[in-house]
Amino acid sequence: MASQDFYQLLGVAESATAEEIKKAYRRLAKQYHPDANLNNPQAAEKFKQISEAHGVLSDAEKRKKYDQMRRLGAFDFTGRGAGRSGAGSQGRPGGAAGGGFSETFDFGDFGSMGLGDIFSSIFGRGAKRDQARGETVETTLAVPFRVAVLGGKVPVTLTVGGACPACAGSGAAAGASVGQCGECKGRGTISFGQGGFAVNRPCPMCRGRGKVPSQQCPTCGGAGEVRTEKTVLISVPAGTDTGTKIRLKGQGEASAPGGQPGDLLVTFEVEPDRFFQRDGLDLKCTVPVNLAQAVLGTKIKVRTVDGKKVVLTIPAGSPPGKKFRIKGMGVPKGDARGDQLVEIAVTMPEKLSEEQAALFRQFADRAGLVY
Ligand SMILES: [Zn+2]
Ligand SMILES: [Zn+2]
Repeated sequence: MASQDFYQLLGVAESATAEEIKKAYRRLAKQYHPDANLNNPQAAEKFKQISEAHGVLSDAEKRKKYDQMRRLGAFDFTGRGAGRSGAGSQGRPGGAAGGGFSETFDFGDFGSMGLGDIFSSIFGRGAKRDQARGETVETTLAVPFRVAVLGGKVPVTLTVGGACPACAGSGAAAGASVGQCGECKGRGTISFGQGGFAVNRPCPMCRGRGKVPSQQCPTCGGAGEVRTEKTVLISVPAGTDTGTKIRLKGQGEASAPGGQPGDLLVTFEVEPDRFFQRDGLDLKCTVPVNLAQAVLGTKIKVRTVDGKKVVLTIPAGSPPGKKFRIKGMGVPKGDARGDQLVEIAVTMPEKLSEEQAALFRQFADRAGLVY
């Protein structure tokens, strides 16, 4: 997580004057303004952050309180502070951490001052990361036979949710003012339960943001998320078989801002080949030879899955269905590699001319074959 220190965000010293803060904000706001950074969620997020920082530091009263808390170490920018570990380890959202904190330190009317945003941005983000993980996307991918055997890359187009480019995930229309959510009082979470047990859930009104825009983003209808197609190049390991699964970290659904995207779970389905059939690590194929080749013997060229040609010696008198083994031309897997098994199919002459039939009879007579 990037540092959320408001002074660092604006690039000013803690001792900066109000004028210096204003100047720094104007320069950065111009640089990161969404109008100047179309389709740039990072710039939009940065713009949000510097606006938030300016909102606090430009107000003398808010700045005083912020400085006080900052000196007390309330904002742990390394992400290992009491607020974050407290929330994160128990898997509870940020509101809980903010609540715990307020029991120790008097926040006074921070909430009503709109400073709830500070909590969502400082405490919330780290904790929400646990709960805001994007979903795992499962897909079946058809893989050409040769790619599955030898390994390679196959593109797959997925429809996944991601931050809306129009509002950078904020859900607010351009120029809309953003106010504190009345339902959760800006915390982004709502507590359910009674007695000693309470469970925090993201606020349904503001979708966990703690803020509601005066006008919703027309592109995403305020959801902050749009579904887009993305093409991912999937590496298919050599020796892949139908049913093999791989998990691609972070290639699934996008999450809420600050969270980790989900995984992509791919199940391979190997397409059949016209020439090869797989048998474990061996590759089987059938090659036709004619009657003379089978009877007299010959040399034939056989295609391997690598695309090479191997010369195979067919001895005289090879019967149909005889198998030949080409070592090491099967499916590679790890250090091992299977063989290619070549079966010969002897094609019979369908029609003989009178002359050919006479010669055949002559052959049979001399070989003592009864017909
Ligand atoms: Zn939007
Ligand atoms: Zn809310």
